[in-house]
Amino acid sequence: MPHIKIENACVIYNEGSDNQVNALMDVNFEIKPQEYVIIFGPSGCGKSTLLNLIAGLEKPTRGKVIINEQDISQMDANEFARFHCTSIGMVFQAYNLLSSLSVIDNILLPQIFLGNANRKERREKAVKLLEKFGITSQANRIPTELSGGQQQRIGIARALINDQPILLADEPIGNLDSKSAQNVLKIFDDLNKIDKKTFIMVTHNPENLEYADRVFYMKDGRIEHEVVNKKKNKKNTEKGGAKEREFELLMRSFPGLSEAQLHMLMIPFKAKILSEYLLTKTNVDQNQRLEEFIRNRIIGKFKREELRLMLDRSIEDGGVGLDERTATDFSHGVEKVLDNAEIIQSDLSGISSKLGYKDSRLKAKLFVRYFKRAFLDNTTREQINRLEDLLEKRLLNEIGHELFAEKLDLPFKEGGVGLDKRVVRKLIKEFEITLLVKFGIKKE
Ligand code: ADP
Ligand code: MG
Repeated sequence: MPHIKIENACVIYNEGSDNQVNALMDVNFEIKPQEYVIIFGPSGCGKSTLLNLIAGLEKPTRGKVIINEQDISQMDANEFARFHCTSIGMVFQAYNLLSSLSVIDNILLPQIFLGNANRKERREKAVKLLEKFGITSQANRIPTELSGGQQQRIGIARALINDQPILLADEPIGNLDSKSAQNVLKIFDDLNKIDKKTFIMVTHNPENLEYADRVFYMKDGRIEHEVVNKKKNKKNTEKGGAKEREFELLMRSFPGLSEAQLHMLMIPFKAKILSEYLLTKTNVDQNQRLEEFIRNRIIGKFKREELRLMLDRSIEDGGVGLDERTATDFSHGVEKVLDNAEIIQSDLSGISSKLGYKDSRLKAKLFVRYFKRAFLDNTTREQINRLEDLLEKRLLNEIGHELFAEKLDLPFKEGGVGLDKRVVRKLIKEFEITLLVKFGIKKE
Protein backbone atom coordinates (compact mmCIF):
# COMPACT_ATOMS: atom_id res chain seq x y z
CA MET A 1 0.00 0.00 0.00
CA PRO A 2 1.45 3.39 -0.90
CA HIS A 3 2.28 5.69 1.91
CA ILE A 4 2.50 8.78 -0.24
CA LYS A 5 0.57 9.12 -3.46
CA ILE A 6 0.65 12.11 -5.76
CA GLU A 7 -2.00 12.16 -8.47
CA ASN A 8 -1.91 14.45 -11.50
CA ALA A 9 -0.58 17.25 -9.36
CA CYS A 10 0.15 20.71 -10.77
CA VAL A 11 1.42 23.73 -8.91
CA ILE A 12 0.96 26.92 -10.86
CA TYR A 13 1.90 30.30 -9.47
CA ASN A 14 0.05 33.42 -10.57
CA GLU A 15 -2.19 31.42 -12.86
CA GLY A 16 -3.63 33.42 -15.74
CA SER A 17 -1.37 36.44 -15.19
CA ASP A 18 1.62 37.56 -17.24
CA ASN A 19 4.04 36.07 -14.78
CA GLN A 20 2.46 32.63 -14.55
CA VAL A 21 4.94 29.96 -13.44
CA ASN A 22 4.20 26.27 -14.01
CA ALA A 23 6.29 25.02 -11.12
CA LEU A 24 4.91 21.46 -11.24
CA MET A 25 3.08 19.82 -14.14
CA ASP A 26 1.14 16.54 -14.05
CA VAL A 27 3.21 14.81 -11.44
CA ASN A 28 2.28 11.24 -10.51
CA PHE A 29 4.01 8.77 -8.23
CA GLU A 30 3.66 6.51 -5.24
CA ILE A 31 6.13 5.99 -2.46
CA LYS A 32 5.99 2.98 -0.16
CA PRO A 33 6.76 3.03 3.55
CA GLN A 34 10.49 2.89 4.30
CA GLU A 35 11.62 3.84 0.83
CA TYR A 36 14.56 6.15 0.24
CA VAL A 37 13.80 8.45 -2.70
CA ILE A 38 15.93 11.20 -4.16
CA ILE A 39 14.45 14.04 -6.19
CA PHE A 40 17.21 15.20 -8.49
CA GLY A 41 17.37 17.99 -11.02
CA PRO A 42 18.75 21.43 -11.86
CA SER A 43 17.93 24.57 -9.94
CA GLY A 44 14.43 25.88 -10.59
CA CYS A 45 13.01 22.61 -11.91
CA GLY A 46 10.47 22.34 -9.08
CA LYS A 47 12.19 20.08 -6.53
CA SER A 48 11.40 22.22 -3.50
CA THR A 49 7.86 22.77 -4.71
CA LEU A 50 7.38 19.02 -4.94
CA LEU A 51 8.81 18.42 -1.48
CA ASN A 52 6.60 21.15 -0.03
CA LEU A 53 3.63 19.61 -1.76
CA ILE A 54 4.30 16.30 -0.01
CA ALA A 55 4.73 18.16 3.26
CA GLY A 56 1.41 19.93 2.74
CA LEU A 57 3.13 23.30 2.85
CA GLU A 58 2.17 23.91 -0.75
CA LYS A 59 -1.32 23.17 -2.10
CA PRO A 60 -1.75 21.58 -5.51
CA THR A 61 -3.44 23.91 -8.01
CA ARG A 62 -4.86 20.71 -9.45
CA GLY A 63 -4.53 17.07 -8.45
CA LYS A 64 -4.22 15.27 -5.14
CA VAL A 65 -1.73 14.63 -2.40
CA ILE A 66 -2.67 11.53 -0.45
CA ILE A 67 -0.72 10.50 2.60
CA ASN A 68 -1.69 7.36 4.48
CA GLU A 69 -4.91 7.33 2.50
CA GLN A 70 -5.87 10.86 3.51
CA ASP A 71 -6.13 13.68 1.02
CA ILE A 72 -4.23 16.34 2.88
CA SER A 73 -5.61 19.25 0.91
CA GLN A 74 -9.05 18.39 2.26
CA MET A 75 -7.99 18.75 5.89
CA ASP A 76 -8.99 21.78 7.92
CA ALA A 77 -6.28 23.88 9.56
CA ASN A 78 -6.28 22.02 12.88
CA GLU A 79 -6.29 18.59 11.33
CA PHE A 80 -3.50 19.61 9.03
CA ALA A 81 -1.33 21.06 11.80
CA ARG A 82 -1.65 17.87 13.78
CA PHE A 83 -1.01 15.69 10.75
CA HIS A 84 2.09 17.67 9.83
CA CYS A 85 3.57 17.60 13.34
CA THR A 86 3.05 13.89 13.82
CA SER A 87 3.74 12.55 10.33
CA ILE A 88 6.42 14.67 8.72
CA GLY A 89 9.84 15.86 9.76
CA MET A 90 11.62 18.41 7.59
CA VAL A 91 15.31 19.19 7.22
CA PHE A 92 16.49 22.28 5.35
CA GLN A 93 19.64 23.39 3.60
CA ALA A 94 19.93 26.50 5.80
CA TYR A 95 19.11 24.42 8.94
CA ASN A 96 16.34 26.91 9.88
CA LEU A 97 17.25 26.90 13.57
CA LEU A 98 16.19 29.71 15.89
CA SER A 99 19.23 31.50 17.17
CA SER A 100 17.35 32.85 20.17
CA LEU A 101 16.86 29.31 21.51
CA SER A 102 19.37 26.83 22.87
CA VAL A 103 20.19 23.69 20.93
CA ILE A 104 17.94 21.52 23.08
CA ASP A 105 15.03 23.95 22.88
CA ASN A 106 15.31 24.02 19.10
CA ILE A 107 14.98 20.25 19.09
CA LEU A 108 12.01 20.44 21.47
CA LEU A 109 10.10 23.02 19.49
CA PRO A 110 7.89 20.59 17.54
CA GLN A 111 6.93 18.86 20.80
CA ILE A 112 5.77 22.13 22.22
CA PHE A 113 3.67 22.78 19.12
CA LEU A 114 2.16 19.38 19.59
CA GLY A 115 1.16 20.33 23.11
CA ASN A 116 3.05 17.57 24.84
CA ALA A 117 2.87 18.91 28.36
CA ASN A 118 5.15 16.49 30.11
CA ARG A 119 8.31 18.50 30.32
CA LYS A 120 10.47 15.72 31.71
CA GLU A 121 9.41 13.24 29.05
CA ARG A 122 10.07 15.83 26.36
CA ARG A 123 13.56 16.53 27.60
CA GLU A 124 14.45 12.89 27.88
CA LYS A 125 13.57 12.38 24.24
CA ALA A 126 15.62 15.36 23.17
CA VAL A 127 18.59 14.18 25.22
CA LYS A 128 18.43 10.78 23.54
CA LEU A 129 18.57 12.43 20.13
CA LEU A 130 21.46 14.63 21.20
CA GLU A 131 23.33 11.50 22.25
CA LYS A 132 22.46 9.69 19.06
CA PHE A 133 23.99 12.47 17.00
CA GLY A 134 26.99 13.14 19.23
CA ILE A 135 26.03 16.68 20.22
CA THR A 136 25.19 16.15 23.90
CA SER A 137 27.83 18.55 25.13
CA GLN A 138 26.38 21.33 22.97
CA ALA A 139 22.85 21.09 24.44
CA ASN A 140 22.79 24.49 26.07
CA ARG A 141 24.72 26.48 23.52
CA ILE A 142 23.06 28.50 20.80
CA PRO A 143 23.08 26.95 17.34
CA THR A 144 25.18 29.63 15.65
CA GLU A 145 28.12 28.75 17.92
CA LEU A 146 28.30 25.33 16.31
CA SER A 147 29.72 24.06 13.03
CA GLY A 148 27.52 23.55 9.97
CA GLY A 149 27.61 19.79 10.38
CA GLN A 150 26.55 20.06 14.01
CA GLN A 151 23.77 22.51 13.16
CA GLN A 152 22.42 20.15 10.56
CA ARG A 153 22.42 17.32 13.09
CA ILE A 154 20.30 19.56 15.34
CA GLY A 155 18.00 20.12 12.38
CA ILE A 156 17.68 16.37 11.92
CA ALA A 157 17.04 15.78 15.63
CA ARG A 158 14.29 18.39 15.49
CA ALA A 159 12.74 16.58 12.54
CA LEU A 160 12.62 13.34 14.53
CA ILE A 161 11.41 14.48 17.94
CA ASN A 162 7.76 13.62 17.30
CA ASP A 163 8.63 10.16 15.91
CA GLN A 164 7.42 11.21 12.49
CA PRO A 165 7.54 8.28 10.05
CA ILE A 166 8.33 10.49 7.04
CA LEU A 167 11.46 12.58 6.80
CA LEU A 168 11.83 15.18 4.02
CA ALA A 169 15.08 16.99 3.35
CA ASP A 170 15.63 19.86 0.94
CA GLU A 171 19.29 20.08 -0.14
CA PRO A 172 20.31 19.13 3.42
CA ILE A 173 24.02 18.92 2.69
CA GLY A 174 24.18 21.85 0.29
CA ASN A 175 25.96 24.04 2.84
CA LEU A 176 28.31 21.45 4.28
CA ASP A 177 31.94 20.60 3.62
CA SER A 178 32.41 17.14 2.17
CA LYS A 179 33.27 15.44 5.45
CA SER A 180 30.21 16.78 7.30
CA ALA A 181 28.12 16.00 4.24
CA GLN A 182 29.22 12.36 4.33
CA ASN A 183 28.45 12.23 8.03
CA VAL A 184 24.93 13.61 7.48
CA LEU A 185 24.31 11.27 4.54
CA LYS A 186 25.31 8.35 6.75
CA ILE A 187 22.80 9.53 9.40
CA PHE A 188 20.03 9.62 6.79
CA ASP A 189 21.03 6.19 5.54
CA ASP A 190 20.81 4.78 9.07
CA LEU A 191 17.51 6.53 9.76
CA ASN A 192 16.13 4.89 6.65
CA LYS A 193 17.66 1.44 7.17
CA ILE A 194 17.66 1.08 10.94
CA ASP A 195 14.91 3.40 12.13
CA LYS A 196 12.72 2.55 9.12
CA LYS A 197 11.94 6.13 8.18
CA THR A 198 10.56 6.91 4.78
CA PHE A 199 13.11 9.37 3.48
CA ILE A 200 12.80 11.79 0.57
CA MET A 201 15.72 14.04 -0.23
CA VAL A 202 16.08 16.83 -2.77
CA THR A 203 19.51 17.30 -4.27
CA HIS A 204 21.15 18.67 -7.38
CA ASN A 205 24.36 16.80 -6.67
CA PRO A 206 24.79 13.62 -8.76
CA GLU A 207 27.25 12.24 -6.25
CA ASN A 208 24.55 11.52 -3.68
CA LEU A 209 22.36 9.36 -5.89
CA GLU A 210 23.74 5.99 -4.90
CA TYR A 211 22.08 6.13 -1.49
CA ALA A 212 18.53 6.07 -2.82
CA ASP A 213 16.26 3.15 -3.67
CA ARG A 214 14.79 5.29 -6.42
CA VAL A 215 15.75 8.53 -8.10
CA PHE A 216 13.21 10.87 -9.70
CA TYR A 217 14.82 13.00 -12.37
CA MET A 218 13.05 16.34 -12.68
CA LYS A 219 13.11 18.94 -15.41
CA ASP A 220 10.85 21.94 -16.01
CA GLY A 221 8.30 20.94 -13.40
CA ARG A 222 7.99 17.33 -14.50
CA ILE A 223 9.43 14.01 -13.43
CA GLU A 224 11.14 13.04 -16.66
CA HIS A 225 12.09 9.57 -15.62
CA GLU A 226 12.71 7.41 -12.65
CA VAL A 227 15.59 5.05 -11.92
CA VAL A 228 15.48 2.15 -9.51
CA ASN A 229 18.83 1.61 -7.89
CA LYS A 230 19.17 -2.15 -7.83
CA LYS A 231 22.73 -1.99 -6.70
CA LYS A 232 22.01 0.00 -3.59
CA ASN A 233 21.94 -2.81 -1.11
CA LYS A 234 25.09 -4.38 -2.42
CA LYS A 235 27.10 -1.26 -1.97
CA ASN A 236 29.24 -2.35 0.95
CA THR A 237 30.19 -5.73 -0.41
CA GLU A 238 31.11 -4.90 -3.97
CA LYS A 239 34.55 -4.46 -5.32
CA GLY A 240 35.69 -1.11 -6.69
CA GLY A 241 35.54 2.37 -5.24
CA ALA A 242 32.31 4.06 -4.26
CA LYS A 243 32.98 6.78 -6.78
CA GLU A 244 33.08 4.36 -9.69
CA ARG A 245 29.78 2.84 -8.66
CA GLU A 246 28.19 6.26 -8.35
CA PHE A 247 29.38 6.95 -11.81
CA GLU A 248 27.96 3.73 -13.19
CA LEU A 249 24.64 4.60 -11.64
CA LEU A 250 24.83 7.99 -13.23
CA MET A 251 25.59 6.50 -16.63
CA ARG A 252 22.65 4.16 -16.40
CA SER A 253 20.48 6.93 -15.09
CA PHE A 254 20.60 9.31 -18.00
CA PRO A 255 19.51 7.37 -21.05
CA GLY A 256 17.62 10.38 -22.39
CA LEU A 257 20.30 13.01 -21.98
CA SER A 258 22.68 14.17 -24.66
CA GLU A 259 26.37 13.74 -24.18
CA ALA A 260 26.78 17.47 -23.73
CA GLN A 261 24.21 17.53 -20.94
CA LEU A 262 25.79 14.54 -19.26
CA HIS A 263 29.10 16.20 -19.55
CA MET A 264 27.88 19.32 -17.78
CA LEU A 265 26.44 17.26 -14.96
CA MET A 266 29.58 15.26 -14.55
CA ILE A 267 32.34 17.84 -14.58
CA PRO A 268 32.62 18.22 -10.81
CA PHE A 269 32.49 14.49 -10.51
CA LYS A 270 35.21 13.88 -13.05
CA ALA A 271 37.40 16.47 -11.40
CA LYS A 272 36.93 14.66 -8.12
CA ILE A 273 37.87 11.32 -9.60
CA LEU A 274 40.94 12.70 -11.29
CA SER A 275 41.95 14.50 -8.19
CA GLU A 276 41.54 11.41 -6.04
CA TYR A 277 43.48 9.42 -8.56
CA LEU A 278 46.40 11.77 -8.19
CA LEU A 279 46.06 12.50 -4.56
CA THR A 280 48.63 11.50 -2.04
CA LYS A 281 49.40 13.92 0.72
CA THR A 282 47.21 16.92 0.12
CA ASN A 283 44.84 18.28 2.77
CA VAL A 284 41.16 19.15 2.45
CA ASP A 285 41.65 22.75 1.28
CA GLN A 286 44.25 21.71 -1.24
CA ASN A 287 42.00 18.94 -2.41
CA GLN A 288 39.11 21.33 -3.02
CA ARG A 289 41.29 23.68 -5.03
CA LEU A 290 42.81 20.81 -6.90
CA GLU A 291 39.34 19.64 -7.93
CA GLU A 292 38.35 23.14 -8.90
CA PHE A 293 41.41 23.58 -11.10
CA ILE A 294 41.06 20.19 -12.74
CA ARG A 295 37.45 21.13 -13.43
CA ASN A 296 38.70 24.26 -15.15
CA ARG A 297 41.12 22.17 -17.13
CA ILE A 298 38.40 19.71 -18.23
CA ILE A 299 36.16 22.48 -19.49
CA GLY A 300 39.07 24.19 -21.20
CA LYS A 301 39.14 27.25 -18.97
CA PHE A 302 42.74 26.45 -18.07
CA LYS A 303 45.37 25.47 -20.57
CA ARG A 304 47.87 22.73 -19.81
CA GLU A 305 50.54 25.10 -18.55
CA GLU A 306 48.09 27.15 -16.50
CA LEU A 307 47.00 24.08 -14.57
CA ARG A 308 50.59 23.25 -13.76
CA LEU A 309 51.26 26.82 -12.59
CA MET A 310 48.17 26.86 -10.38
CA LEU A 311 49.20 23.56 -8.77
CA ASP A 312 52.61 24.98 -8.04
CA ARG A 313 51.47 28.43 -6.82
CA SER A 314 51.28 28.91 -3.03
CA ILE A 315 47.98 28.61 -1.18
CA GLU A 316 48.20 32.28 -0.16
CA ASP A 317 48.44 33.28 -3.79
CA GLY A 318 45.39 31.21 -4.71
CA GLY A 319 47.17 28.03 -5.82
CA VAL A 320 47.29 24.47 -4.48
CA GLY A 321 50.72 24.87 -2.93
CA LEU A 322 52.43 21.75 -4.25
CA ASP A 323 56.17 21.75 -4.77
CA GLU A 324 57.30 22.20 -8.34
CA ARG A 325 58.08 18.58 -8.97
CA THR A 326 54.78 17.29 -7.55
CA ALA A 327 52.92 19.95 -9.52
CA THR A 328 54.61 18.76 -12.70
CA ASP A 329 53.81 15.12 -11.90
CA PHE A 330 50.17 15.92 -11.14
CA SER A 331 49.77 18.01 -14.23
CA HIS A 332 51.37 15.27 -16.29
CA GLY A 333 48.97 12.70 -14.79
CA VAL A 334 45.94 14.81 -15.63
CA GLU A 335 47.11 15.41 -19.19
CA LYS A 336 47.78 11.72 -19.77
CA VAL A 337 44.26 10.79 -18.77
CA LEU A 338 42.73 13.67 -20.70
CA ASP A 339 44.76 12.85 -23.81
CA ASN A 340 43.67 9.22 -23.75
CA ALA A 341 40.10 10.18 -22.98
CA GLU A 342 40.12 12.55 -25.91
CA ILE A 343 41.35 9.79 -28.20
CA ILE A 344 38.70 7.40 -26.95
CA GLN A 345 35.82 9.78 -27.40
CA SER A 346 36.89 11.37 -30.69
CA ASP A 347 35.81 10.28 -34.14
CA LEU A 348 38.70 8.42 -35.71
CA SER A 349 36.62 6.62 -38.31
CA GLY A 350 38.44 8.36 -41.19
CA ILE A 351 41.86 7.17 -40.10
CA SER A 352 40.74 3.76 -38.94
CA SER A 353 39.03 2.87 -42.22
CA LYS A 354 42.16 3.90 -44.08
CA LEU A 355 44.17 1.58 -41.86
CA GLY A 356 41.57 -1.15 -42.26
CA TYR A 357 40.48 -1.27 -38.61
CA LYS A 358 37.24 -0.69 -36.85
CA ASP A 359 37.19 2.59 -34.96
CA SER A 360 37.06 0.80 -31.62
CA ARG A 361 40.00 -1.39 -32.61
CA LEU A 362 42.16 1.58 -33.43
CA LYS A 363 41.34 3.15 -30.09
CA ALA A 364 42.21 -0.06 -28.28
CA LYS A 365 45.51 -0.16 -30.20
CA LEU A 366 46.33 3.42 -29.32
CA PHE A 367 45.69 2.78 -25.67
CA VAL A 368 47.86 -0.34 -25.69
CA ARG A 369 50.62 1.56 -27.44
CA TYR A 370 50.55 4.28 -24.84
CA PHE A 371 50.46 1.76 -22.05
CA LYS A 372 53.12 -0.45 -23.57
CA ARG A 373 55.69 2.25 -23.45
CA ALA A 374 55.36 2.34 -19.69
CA PHE A 375 54.53 -1.16 -18.52
CA LEU A 376 54.41 -3.90 -21.10
CA ASP A 377 58.00 -4.83 -21.95
CA ASN A 378 57.85 -8.63 -21.87
CA THR A 379 54.62 -9.30 -23.66
CA THR A 380 54.26 -11.40 -26.79
CA ARG A 381 52.44 -10.42 -29.95
CA GLU A 382 49.65 -12.86 -29.03
CA GLN A 383 49.20 -11.34 -25.61
CA ILE A 384 48.95 -7.88 -27.11
CA ASN A 385 46.32 -9.16 -29.53
CA ARG A 386 44.22 -10.50 -26.73
CA LEU A 387 44.68 -7.34 -24.76
CA GLU A 388 43.45 -5.32 -27.73
CA ASP A 389 40.45 -7.63 -28.08
CA LEU A 390 39.54 -7.13 -24.46
CA LEU A 391 40.03 -3.38 -24.53
CA GLU A 392 37.91 -3.15 -27.64
CA LYS A 393 35.11 -5.14 -26.01
CA ARG A 394 35.32 -2.96 -22.93
CA LEU A 395 35.23 0.18 -25.06
CA LEU A 396 32.10 -1.06 -26.79
CA ASN A 397 30.70 -1.97 -23.37
CA GLU A 398 30.32 -5.57 -24.47
CA ILE A 399 31.99 -6.66 -21.27
CA GLY A 400 31.83 -5.07 -17.83
CA HIS A 401 34.56 -3.97 -15.54
CA GLU A 402 34.75 -7.26 -13.61
CA LEU A 403 35.08 -9.65 -16.53
CA PHE A 404 37.61 -7.30 -18.07
CA ALA A 405 39.73 -7.40 -14.93
CA GLU A 406 39.41 -11.16 -14.64
CA LYS A 407 40.55 -11.84 -18.21
CA LEU A 408 43.59 -9.59 -17.96
CA ASP A 409 44.80 -11.61 -15.05
CA LEU A 410 43.91 -15.09 -16.30
CA PRO A 411 46.86 -17.16 -17.67
CA PHE A 412 47.31 -17.06 -21.43
CA LYS A 413 46.74 -20.82 -21.73
CA GLU A 414 43.33 -20.42 -20.14
CA GLY A 415 42.23 -17.78 -22.60
CA GLY A 416 43.36 -14.72 -20.64
CA VAL A 417 46.06 -12.14 -21.34
CA GLY A 418 48.30 -13.47 -18.60
CA LEU A 419 49.63 -10.18 -17.34
CA ASP A 420 51.46 -9.62 -14.12
CA LYS A 421 49.09 -8.65 -11.28
CA ARG A 422 50.78 -5.33 -10.68
CA VAL A 423 50.54 -4.41 -14.36
CA VAL A 424 46.88 -5.47 -14.42
CA ARG A 425 46.09 -3.16 -11.53
CA LYS A 426 47.78 -0.22 -13.20
CA LEU A 427 46.22 -0.88 -16.56
CA ILE A 428 42.72 -1.20 -15.16
CA LYS A 429 43.04 1.93 -13.11
CA GLU A 430 44.28 3.97 -16.04
CA PHE A 431 41.82 2.56 -18.51
CA GLU A 432 38.75 2.80 -16.30
CA ILE A 433 39.60 6.34 -15.28
CA THR A 434 39.99 7.19 -18.92
CA LEU A 435 36.55 5.75 -19.60
CA LEU A 436 35.12 7.72 -16.71
CA VAL A 437 36.29 11.05 -17.99
CA LYS A 438 35.92 10.41 -21.69
CA PHE A 439 32.80 12.40 -22.46
CA GLY A 440 33.03 15.86 -23.87
CA ILE A 441 36.62 16.65 -23.13
CA LYS A 442 37.39 20.16 -24.31
CA LYS A 443 40.84 21.09 -23.32
CA GLU A 444 41.92 24.20 -25.17
P1 ADP B 1 14.07 24.00 -7.22
O1 ADP B 1 13.85 23.66 -5.78
O2 ADP B 1 14.15 22.82 -8.11
O3 ADP B 1 15.25 24.89 -7.42
P2 ADP B 1 11.56 25.44 -6.95
O4 ADP B 1 10.60 24.36 -6.65
O5 ADP B 1 12.01 26.27 -5.82
O6 ADP B 1 12.79 24.85 -7.74
O7 ADP B 1 10.90 26.41 -8.02
C1 ADP B 1 10.30 25.97 -9.23
C2 ADP B 1 9.88 27.18 -10.04
O8 ADP B 1 8.82 27.86 -9.39
C3 ADP B 1 10.98 28.21 -10.21
O9 ADP B 1 10.87 28.74 -11.51
C4 ADP B 1 10.66 29.25 -9.18
O10 ADP B 1 11.14 30.50 -9.57
C5 ADP B 1 9.15 29.22 -9.16
N1 ADP B 1 8.58 29.60 -7.86
C6 ADP B 1 8.81 29.00 -6.66
N2 ADP B 1 8.08 29.59 -5.70
C7 ADP B 1 7.36 30.58 -6.29
C8 ADP B 1 6.39 31.54 -5.84
N3 ADP B 1 6.04 31.58 -4.55
N4 ADP B 1 5.87 32.39 -6.75
C9 ADP B 1 6.23 32.31 -8.04
N5 ADP B 1 7.11 31.44 -8.55
C10 ADP B 1 7.68 30.57 -7.69
MG1 MG C 1 14.97 24.28 -4.11
